[in-house]
Amino acid sequence: MIPGVGEYGVDLSIEADDLEGLLSVTPADVSPPPELTFARNVFVPLTTACRYTCTYCTYFDPPGDASLLSLEEVREICRRGADAGCTEALFTFGDDPDDRYTAIHEQLEAWGYDSIHTYLRAACEVALEEGLLPHANPGDQTREEMAAVADLNASMGTMLETTAEVDAHAGPRRKVPGQRLRTIQNAGELAVPFTTGILVGIGESWEDRAESVLAIRELHDRYDHVQEVIVQPVVDNERWSGGTPTLETMRRVTAMARAALPEEVSVQVPPNLAPARELVDCGVDDLGGVSPVTDDHVNPDYAWPELRELEAVAEAAGVPLRERLPVYERFLPSELRRDDFSGRPAEAVDDREWIPPRIRETLEANVRDSVGRVRG
Ligand code: SF4
Repeated sequence: MIPGVGEYGVDLSIEADDLEGLLSVTPADVSPPPELTFARNVFVPLTTACRYTCTYCTYFDPPGDASLLSLEEVREICRRGADAGCTEALFTFGDDPDDRYTAIHEQLEAWGYDSIHTYLRAACEVALEEGLLPHANPGDQTREEMAAVADLNASMGTMLETTAEVDAHAGPRRKVPGQRLRTIQNAGELAVPFTTGILVGIGESWEDRAESVLAIRELHDRYDHVQEVIVQPVVDNERWSGGTPTLETMRRVTAMARAALPEEVSVQVPPNLAPARELVDCGVDDLGGVSPVTDDHVNPDYAWPELRELEAVAEAAGVPLRERLPVYERFLPSELRRDDFSGRPAEAVDDREWIPPRIRETLEANVRDSVGRVRG
């Protein structure tokens, strides 16, 4: 039983046969992709406060040290991103700042906001005004919290990381897999195109890895809303010295993700953390969001590759490199989808309204300016 699924009202029925079958998958069992995609983004680290203390994470700051960007700072980052041709404002968070973060709560109150989510709304408005599409990653979210910001986001995300209880989720306030799965389910119920993923090397077993991708698949099968699954290796940093997974491990787990997920769900590896060139033939078809403007604030020791490095990865794989938006093609209204789309299925998933009216104008402008540019 996955910890917390009952408590958070997630109903999963992962079959033992599926689990068994996935454990025998190797890179030879999957096909290389027809193309590689990436998105150009700016990282907007809205707050570094987090109620959790994961042992591999350098993103969170303890109470007293945590930062909260002002809306002026958000605007400045977004403007620089828009000027550099970015399409996405990636709002990164910790997870809901708890009561220990009195300074953050007082600052929010002084600015007229009663929670980090109401503040996120205002920040998304700023991004849209600057011409960028918001993609917020605010960690675990209740359905009400997600509904409060969904109409201002092109897509949203949070990493499942793992369905296992691992020591790396340490301390008195721990991430609960059931709550993460509930967040993914909430996105499905609210028709939010969603990005999630697994974190490899934090103490999980091969069975846990297989169970994690199957849990994501099951929720996607129910709601059709998962657009990409990130396969991310944990990496050494000032808080984590537990090592990073071997190339062999990354190849096998990437192939497992590709084999488990339906064709329309992209498999992504972050090119600043994983050896992308050696993983493409395991079914990777996306290189994620990279920024010509800002650091990877979640992994500040690991610089983004230049666009020409992504081109080199695509060239080595013999496939085109195409820029995409934060929201994948198949969620767009039919009149905005590309005619010549040749990769993943572009048919709309169903007739639910995946693109909120509030972001339509910015989306159209970005489609006109960016989508379809082929590099390499
Ligand atoms: S990984 Fe996420 S949830 Fe864990 S401490 Fe870091 S910011 Fe918080």
